[in-house]
Amino acid sequence: MAALLNLLRETQKPRVSKYVRDLLDRAKTEHGENSGAYRGIYNQYFRMPTAEPGPAQSERHYNALGDLPAGVERLYRRVVVVDLLTACSSECVFCIRGLYDPHTLKGTEVSRVIDYLAHDRYLTEVLITGGDPLISPGRLAELIDGIAASAPNIQVIRIGTRLPVQNPFAVGKDTYEIFQRHADRFLFEIAIQINHPFELQNEPIEIINHLSRSGVRLYSQNVLLKAVNDDLDTLIDLYERLRSLRMIPHYLFHAVPMIGTDEFRTSVARGLELARQLTTCGHLSGMGKPMFSVMTAVGKLTLYEDSILSERDGIITFRTSYRLEDRLRWNPGYQLPEGAWVNEQGTIDVQYVDGVD
Ligand code: SF4
Repeated sequence: MAALLNLLRETQKPRVSKYVRDLLDRAKTEHGENSGAYRGIYNQYFRMPTAEPGPAQSERHYNALGDLPAGVERLYRRVVVVDLLTACSSECVFCIRGLYDPHTLKGTEVSRVIDYLAHDRYLTEVLITGGDPLISPGRLAELIDGIAASAPNIQVIRIGTRLPVQNPFAVGKDTYEIFQRHADRFLFEIAIQINHPFELQNEPIEIINHLSRSGVRLYSQNVLLKAVNDDLDTLIDLYERLRSLRMIPHYLFHAVPMIGTDEFRTSVARGLELARQLTTCGHLSGMGKPMFSVMTAVGKLTLYEDSILSERDGIITFRTSYRLEDRLRWNPGYQLPEGAWVNEQGTIDVQYVDGVD
C-alpha cells in the first residue's frame, strides 16, 4: 500500500507532465513566485509530502467494497463506481489514490464489470474513475462499448478526469469518438477537477469546448485545498470562469482525511464559512454555486444545519441519512467501517478527522 505516496516522500521528485511543468513556468513568468497562480499550481503538484505522521491516518477514502467484481465500488442505489485504472497523467500531491496499489482492469475484469452492471435491477448510472480513465481511451472504449451492447439498464455514464488540465495534448480523436459513437444511447457527463482558475488556459478550454460539441455535459468537482484555493476571491474567480465555460458546478469537497493529506486540509468550519460566503456574496449566479461536501467513510455528505452532531479533540461526528439495510440490499457484502454506527433513528453516524487551519 501507499506505493505512490512513499515514492514521492522518498524521492521528493514531482511526477508531472511537461504541460504541468510548463504551466508552473507560465505562472512564474506572468505573475511571479508570490502570486496565487504560482501557489495554485506549485502546491498541487510540486510541494512534496513529508513523512511526518498527521491526524489523518485512513488508508481508504471510503469503504464501498463487498462481494463485487474487481474495480467496482457500491454505496448508492442507482450509481456504481468503476475504477478503471489507477494511473494519471500527473500526480497531485494531495491525491487519495496515491495510497492504493496500482492496477488497470484487464479485459476479463472489464467483462465481469459489464456483466455485473447488466444484472443489477437498481442500477441506471455508472461513474468511471480511477486514476484518470481518459489516459486510456482504448480500455475506456472497451468498457463503454460493452455497456452499450449488454447493459440496457444503464442510461448515464459519468467520467472523472483531470487530463484536460494535466495534459490537454493527450486528449485525441479516439476519445471524442467514444462519446460521438454513443451520443444517442447515453447521457455522458464528465467531471473535470479544476482547483485553481489559472488551470483554465487556452488548451484545456479548447478541450472543454470540443467535449461539449461532442454532446458531453461537463461539470466540476473541485477540492478545497489550503494554500491553493482556500480564499474567497480565488473561489469566486474559479466558479465564474467555470460558469462561463458552461460547466455545471457540483461538489466542492473538503480534502479527504487520508494519510498524506493533512497539509492541504482546512478545518470543516473554515470550509463551511467559505462555502457560506461563496454562496451568499452576490458575486456568483445561483447556477454557478457548488455544494460543499465531505467524503466520509460511509459516503459523500453535503452539510446542513444538523449534520454535525459533535466535535471533540479534532474528531467530528456527522449524522447521515444513509441506512445500513439499504446498503446491504445493494451490496450484500458491505460492512460498516470503523468509526461508523447505526443511530437510534436507524441512520448511520460517522466520525471524521477534522483539518487544522
Ligand atoms: S488526477 Fe485525480 S486521481 Fe489522479 S492524482 Fe490527481 S486527484 Fe488523484
